[in-house]
Amino acid sequence: MKRIVTLLLMGLLLAVLLPGAALAANETFLLQAGTPWETTGYVVDSGEAGPTALILGGVHGNEPAGAAAAEQVLAFKPVRGKLVVIPQVNRPGLQQSLRYLSGAGDMNRAYPPTGEDTPANRMGAAIIELMNRRNIAMLIDLHEARTFHKLDRTSLGQTLLFADNTASTGLAMDTVDAVNRRITDDVIKFSLVGHPIPSSAAWYAGKYLGIAAFTVETSSRQPLADRVQQHLLVVRELLASGGWLPR
Ligand SMILES: [Zn+2]
Repeated sequence: MKRIVTLLLMGLLLAVLLPGAALAANETFLLQAGTPWETTGYVVDSGEAGPTALILGGVHGNEPAGAAAAEQVLAFKPVRGKLVVIPQVNRPGLQQSLRYLSGAGDMNRAYPPTGEDTPANRMGAAIIELMNRRNIAMLIDLHEARTFHKLDRTSLGQTLLFADNTASTGLAMDTVDAVNRRITDDVIKFSLVGHPIPSSAAWYAGKYLGIAAFTVETSSRQPLADRVQQHLLVVRELLASGGWLPR
């Protein structure tokens, strides 16, 4: 009985945390199933032929805006192809508001995984396998940084990092132009600062899979709701450019 009550409460909590998620997704899957690192991936299928985009959130546990934005992407209605969304790549990190747990490894420095058997390396391997198996055509990885890049060049807040390939470059420039037209405060406007950090997911996807790949960074010196909206602005624009969403 106690177990049933617990399960009911957990279900209720998930329904609050992920409004509409289960309803919007056509398919779910687990990564690192049966471990403390287990996390759910969602497939939003337009029902029409077309490419698949992958959106990652919560890779760093102290960057909650990307996770919250990825959950809202589940309500998007793509007009072609599919969206694969993993809102909480680093669930234990998010629960403890830590970039990564001690000994677990940095979940955005595991591409490709090193030989060491760590949660980060296992997640990197699982996501690389997923990108290959599902023939992912665009990767968008949602992150946050300490402050505004326009105020402090050592921080990446409000930047779009794009993979060093032709699939990413033009799209990045067009996206930042379009997004910045909708942001009035100059400090909050996004900057293009070049390429994703080596061994990050977007770096790997651009270099080894040759696909359009991006790391989106907001500045955590803003209310959470603002950061989530900024992530969604960038994601919508990238997905519209790739034909997943209507203009
Ligand atoms: Zn990050």
